[in-house]
Amino acid sequence: MKEIYQQTVEEVLDHVESRESGLTSEQVERSRENCGWNELAEGKKKSILQIFFEQYKDFLVLILIASAVISGMLGDVESAAVIVIVITINAILGTVQTVKAEQSLQSLKKLSGPEAKVLRDGVAVQLPARELVVGDVILLEAGDMIPADGRLIENASLKVDESALTGESLAVEKSMDTILAEAPLGDRTNMLFSGSFVTYGRGKAVVTDVGMQTEVGKIAGLLKSTSEKQTPLQANLDDFGKKLSILILIFCGILFAINVFRGEKISSAFMFAVALAVAAIPEALSSIVTIVLSFGTQKMAKEHAIIRKLQAVEGLGSVSVICSDKTGTLTQNKMTVEDYYIDGKRISAAAIDAADPAQRCLLDYSILCNDSTNENGVEIGDPTETALINLGSRCGIEAADVRNLYPREGELPFDSDRKMMSTLHRIDGENRMIVKGAVDRLLELTERIWTKDGVREITEADKEKIQMQNQDFSMEGLRVLAFTYREIPENHILTMEDEKHLVFLGLIAMMDPPREESKAAVAECIKAGIRPVMITGDHKITAAAIAKRIGILHDLSEACEGADIENMSDEQLREFVPNISVYARVSPEHKIRIVRAWQEKGMIVAMTGDGVNDAPALKQADIGVAMGVTGTEVAKDAAAMVLTDDNFATIVKAVENGRNLYQNIKYAIQFLLSGNFGAILAVLCASLAGLPVPFAPVHLLFINLLTDSLPAIALGVEPHSSEVMNEKPRSADESILTKDFLGKIGLEGFVIGVMTMIGFLTGYYQNGALLGSTYAFGTLCLARLFHGFNCKSDHPVIFTKRFFNNKWLQGAFALGSVLITAVLTVPGLHFLFKVETLNLMQLGCVYLYAFASLPIIQMLKWIRMKLRKRGER
Ligand code: ATP
Repeated sequence: MKEIYQQTVEEVLDHVESRESGLTSEQVERSRENCGWNELAEGKKKSILQIFFEQYKDFLVLILIASAVISGMLGDVESAAVIVIVITINAILGTVQTVKAEQSLQSLKKLSGPEAKVLRDGVAVQLPARELVVGDVILLEAGDMIPADGRLIENASLKVDESALTGESLAVEKSMDTILAEAPLGDRTNMLFSGSFVTYGRGKAVVTDVGMQTEVGKIAGLLKSTSEKQTPLQANLDDFGKKLSILILIFCGILFAINVFRGEKISSAFMFAVALAVAAIPEALSSIVTIVLSFGTQKMAKEHAIIRKLQAVEGLGSVSVICSDKTGTLTQNKMTVEDYYIDGKRISAAAIDAADPAQRCLLDYSILCNDSTNENGVEIGDPTETALINLGSRCGIEAADVRNLYPREGELPFDSDRKMMSTLHRIDGENRMIVKGAVDRLLELTERIWTKDGVREITEADKEKIQMQNQDFSMEGLRVLAFTYREIPENHILTMEDEKHLVFLGLIAMMDPPREESKAAVAECIKAGIRPVMITGDHKITAAAIAKRIGILHDLSEACEGADIENMSDEQLREFVPNISVYARVSPEHKIRIVRAWQEKGMIVAMTGDGVNDAPALKQADIGVAMGVTGTEVAKDAAAMVLTDDNFATIVKAVENGRNLYQNIKYAIQFLLSGNFGAILAVLCASLAGLPVPFAPVHLLFINLLTDSLPAIALGVEPHSSEVMNEKPRSADESILTKDFLGKIGLEGFVIGVMTMIGFLTGYYQNGALLGSTYAFGTLCLARLFHGFNCKSDHPVIFTKRFFNNKWLQGAFALGSVLITAVLTVPGLHFLFKVETLNLMQLGCVYLYAFASLPIIQMLKWIRMKLRKRGER
C-alpha cells in the first residue's frame, strides 16, 4: 500500500474518510473511537504507594527505624511504637504534600496545553489540540504548533521548523506535490508532523495520525517525561540544608560521646542523639518551597497568569524591568477604524460612502488583503484586520461577498519584520496585487499614486503630504495602515521581490484605546522600583502618544526607533537603554538586543511576546511572557509565563505575587530554623551545665512532627499583602540566607531556647529530671507554636489585624496546642510520652513561659524596626 505522502490529496481524504470542509461532529465521535485522544502517553507515573514508600528513603528516617528496632529489642516497646507512629504520620503527611503539589502542577500543564484551529461542521473553531481526530481538517499559520501528523491540502508559502523531529535547523518549505518515490521524514514535503511549528505562511492539512501514532509519538518513549528541574532557591536551600545537616550530625555525635562518658546507657544516648538530629535537621526546607510555589501558581492562574516553569515564580519577585508590547497588552486590542485618507482628503469612518468608487475600492481592498473572519459575531484573526471587516459590515458590505467575487490567487503573509502583507486577486480582468502595511515602509516602495483624475507619478510633495497626515493620525494615538497595489503578469508566483513599484491608494487609521487598568499598573511598577518599557512594531509617534497617556513616557526624547539601535555596538546600547522608555518600529531581533543590554546592566527582565519570531527574545528574557489570547503557540511554548488575558496589569500582579511568595517562603524558613536552633541551644546549655538532657527522644520527634511542618506550610500560604510593592526589587543573586536573616533566626532561636531552659530548670528544681523535661518539652512545643505568629512579618504584628488573618496558622496552632495539652495532662499518656502528668498550675506555668517568647520577640522586632528607620534617616 502507498504511504500517505505518496497519495494524492483526494486519495488521502478518501483514506481518512474526510472532506476539505472537515468532519461533522458525528464523524469526530466515530473517529475518536478508533484513534483515541491526540496525546502522548505520559512517562510512567508514580503511584501513591510508591510516593509513600519513597518518604522512607531519607537517611534520617532509616536511622530512626533502626533505632526503633534497637529499642524494641532492648525492651523499650513504647518508644519503638511511638517512633513507628511518628514516622508513619510523617510519611503520610509527606505523601499528601507531594501528591497535592504534583496535582496542582499537572492542572497547570493542562491549562497551558496547546490549541489548534480546526474545521468542524464546516466552521473554523479553536480547540485543545488533544481533541483532534484522524480526518480533521486543521488551519495553520505562522506561529502555530503542528498539533498532529497530516497531509497538506492547501498551501500558501508554508515553511515549517521540523528541527525537533529531524534535527534540521533550517525551516522546510512545504508543497502540495505528491511524492512518488520513497522519502525519509525530512523530505516528505507534503506532510506536516506533530511537534514542529510553522515559521511562515498559511496552510490547511488533513490529520492522518494522532497521539502515539504520530512520528513524534513513535519516538516518545525515547523522549521520556522531562522532570522538573530544581528552582535556584530549592538548590540554594538544599545546599544549605546539607551543610547544616553535617554540622548537626557532628554536634549530635559529640553529644552522644559526652552522654556515654557521663555514664548513660549507649542505647539511650544513641536514641537521643538520633532524635535530636531528626528534630534539628530542617529536612522539610526544599519541599516547603515546592509546596508554597506550586500552591502560589494556582492562585496566579486564577489571576490570569499561568506559570509554565516553577523557576519563574522566584524570578518574578526580582524583576526590575518589564518590556511590554503595546498592542493588546497595554492597549485593549479592540480596534475600530476612525478615519480614511484618500485622494488628499481625510474622511471620518462615520462619513464613509460605499457608493463613492474610491472609498469603495479602499473598503474592498481592506477586506481582500485580510485573513480575518467574522462569522455570526465570532471574530477569528488579527484585531487590526477584524476592524477592517467590521467597517465593511457597517457600510453594508459583507466580507464573504467581496472575497467570492475576487478570490485570492496568491499571497505573501504578514510578518513583523517586513511590516506588510500582500494578496493577489483577479480584479476587472487584471491580476492585481494588494499590499497593505506600515506607511513609512510602503512609501519607500511606492512609485505612483491613485487620484480621481487617474494614476500618476508620485511626487516628493505627495509623499510629504501623506507623511504629514500619518503624523497627525499618529499624534492622536491612531494606528495607521497604508494601502497600495500593482499589476502582476499572469501565472506569476508571488515573491517578496514583487513588493515594489507600488501605486498608493490611501490610509486607514484606527483607534486602539489604552486599557483602563494600564495607567494604574504602570504607576504601581514605578512605585515598586520596576522600569516599564514599551516595545512595539507600531509608529513612533503613535506609540509615544499612547505611552504618554499611561505614564510610561514623559518626553519624546525617551522614544526611539528600532533603526536607531541597529548600528549601535552592544556597549553603546547598554549605555543607551536606561534613557529610553519607548522603542517603536522594532523587529524581533531588536527585542533580543534590548533584553540583553538590560541584563548586562544587572537587571532582571520580563519581556512579552506573541509572534513566532519573538520566541528567541522570550527565551533570552529572565521571564518570557506570552500572550494567551493573541499569542502564537510557539511564543507560548518559549515563555515561562502565559497571560490568559494578555494584560500588562496581570504581569504587575504576578510580580506582586512572586514577591509575596518569596517572602512567605522566607517566613517559613525563619520559623523552621529558629525553632530548631532553640531546641539545640537548650540541649547544649544543659550539657554544658552538667544537667540531665532536657528532652526524651520521643519529645523531639513529637515536636518535629507537630510544630515543624504544619505551621511552616501555613506560613507559606500567608495572605498576600500589597506592602511588598513599596520596596525596590530584591537583587537576583542575593542569597535567601543573608547575614541579616541568619542573625534574626539566631536571636529568635535564642529567646525560645532561653524560655525552654527556664521551663526545664523550674521543673527540675521542683521535682527532678522527669518534671524538668516535661516542662522543657511543653515549653518548647508551645513556644514554637506561638512563634508561628512571630514569623508572619518582619514587623511587630501583635496589635494589628494581621495577627489573626491566617486561618491555617490558627488551625495549626489550635491542633498543636490541643495535642500537647492532652499529652501533658491526660494521665494514661504519661508513660508513652515520657512525661509527668501536670496539674493545672503547672500547665499554666508552661503556657506562660511559652507565651512569654511571643511579646519578647515582638519587642525585638519593634526595636529592630526603629533602629533600621533611624539608620535610614
Ligand atoms: P506590538 O509589537 O506592540 O504588538 P504591533 O502590533 O503594531 O505592536 P506588529 O504586529 O509587528 O506590531 O506590526 C508592525 C506594523 O506592521 C504595524 O504598525 C502596522 O503598520 C503593520 N501591520 C500590523 N498588522 C498588519 C497586518 N495585518 N497587515 C499589514 N500590516 C500590518
